[in-house]
Amino acid sequence: MIVPDARSLEFACAPKREPTFVRGSMATLWDDEGNEYIDCGASFGVGNVGHCNPAVVEALVAQARDLIHVGPVFGTTAKAAFVEKLRSVAPRNLSRVFLSNSGSEAVEAAIKFARAATGRKNIVAAMRGFHGRTMGALSATWRKDFREPFEPLVPGFVHVPFNDIEALEKAIDGDTAAVILEAVQGEGGVHIASPEYLPAAREACDRAGALLILDEVQTGMGRTGRLFAVERWGVEPDLLTLAKSLAGGVPIGATLATENVEHAFHGSHNSTFGGNPLACAAGSAAIEYTVKERLWERAERLGHEGIETLRALDLPSVREVRGLGLMIGIELRGKSAPVLQALQEEGILAIGAGSSVVRLLPPLVIPEDQWSFALDALGRVLQHG
Ligand SMILES: *Cc1c(COP(=O)(O)O)cnc(C)c1O
Repeated sequence: MIVPDARSLEFACAPKREPTFVRGSMATLWDDEGNEYIDCGASFGVGNVGHCNPAVVEALVAQARDLIHVGPVFGTTAKAAFVEKLRSVAPRNLSRVFLSNSGSEAVEAAIKFARAATGRKNIVAAMRGFHGRTMGALSATWRKDFREPFEPLVPGFVHVPFNDIEALEKAIDGDTAAVILEAVQGEGGVHIASPEYLPAAREACDRAGALLILDEVQTGMGRTGRLFAVERWGVEPDLLTLAKSLAGGVPIGATLATENVEHAFHGSHNSTFGGNPLACAAGSAAIEYTVKERLWERAERLGHEGIETLRALDLPSVREVRGLGLMIGIELRGKSAPVLQALQEEGILAIGAGSSVVRLLPPLVIPEDQWSFALDALGRVLQHG
C-alpha cells in the first residue's frame, strides 16, 4: 500500500510553498525558518481565541495531569462543566448537547438525529454549502469536485439555490427530515443569508414538520459579531452544529438539539473520544475567555473596519468585498491563488474559498496594529493583482 504525502491530500487552492510551523501565539505564527506571519486564516477559523491562548494552555495542562480519557458513557467533571458552560451561552431552546471530535461528526450526528427523530429520509441543503467531508456531511456539501470521486454518496439529499425562498419552500415536503443551512456560507465563498431567508426556512420547516439544522461550525463562537450568527436572524433552529474554534484549537464537535428532538430520537449514536476531558477543559476555557473579553464585539468592530477599508480602496481587481464580523470574503475578478501566495510572501496568511475568493478568518484577538498591517498588505497586493 502506498502512503501518500499528507500534503497531496490537502486543499488544491492552497499556495504552493507551504511553511512548516513550529510555534504560535495569539495571531502570530512562526515557521521552521524563523519567519513570522500574521494569521488571517491559517487556522481555518479555528483560532478565535488565538494560537496557544494562555487560558486554554493552562486548562489543558491542568486537565492532562488529572484525567485524559474516559469513555463517553461515563461522566467526568470536565465534561459536566463544559456542557453546563455551553448551555449557559447557547440559544435557550437548545438544551441538549452531544459531543464529538470535528465539524463533520457534529453534522453527521445532526443528520442522524433528524432522520431518527422524524422517521423521514430526505435532507434539503443549499448550493455552495459546505458541511464536511465524511460521507453524510459530504452528501450535504455542494461542491462537485469534493463529491464526485466518492460517489455514490448517502441518498436523500437535494440542493437548492441559497437565498432563494421559493426554491426552498418547493423542495420541502412531508418526506423532508431536515433542512441544513449555514447563516454565512464559509467555504462556499462567504455568502450571507438574507434577513428573510432563515425565518422563511424556519416557517417552511414548521409547516412540513421538518427540522431546521443550522451549521455554525465556522460562524459560531463570536466569528460573525455575535456569539452565534443565528442570533442576527432571530430564528430558533432544532439542531445547531459547532466545532472549529469551540475548544480553542483542540479537536471537538458539538451537536445541540431541542428537548423535542431528543424525545423523538430513537436508536443509538456515540463517539469514543467525544466529550473527552482534554477537549472539554479547553472548551470551558475558550468559552470563558470569549465571554470575558466579549470577543464577538471585537469581531464586529474590526470586521466592519476591515470591510470598509477594503471597499474604500475600490480596487479594479476586486469584484466585491462582503462579510460579517471577522468572516470576510474578497471576491476577485481573477484567481485567488496568486494573491494568497503574494500575501504569504508579505507575512500574511489567508485562505481561499473556491477559486476566486480570498477569505479572511483572523483570530478575534488579533491586535489592531496587526490587523491594520494585514489590511495594508492586502491593499498593496491587490493593487498589483
Ligand atoms: C469546516 C466546516 C465543517 C467541517 O468541519 P471539520 O472539522 O473539518 O470536519 C462543517 N461545516 C462547516 C460550516 C464548516 O465550515
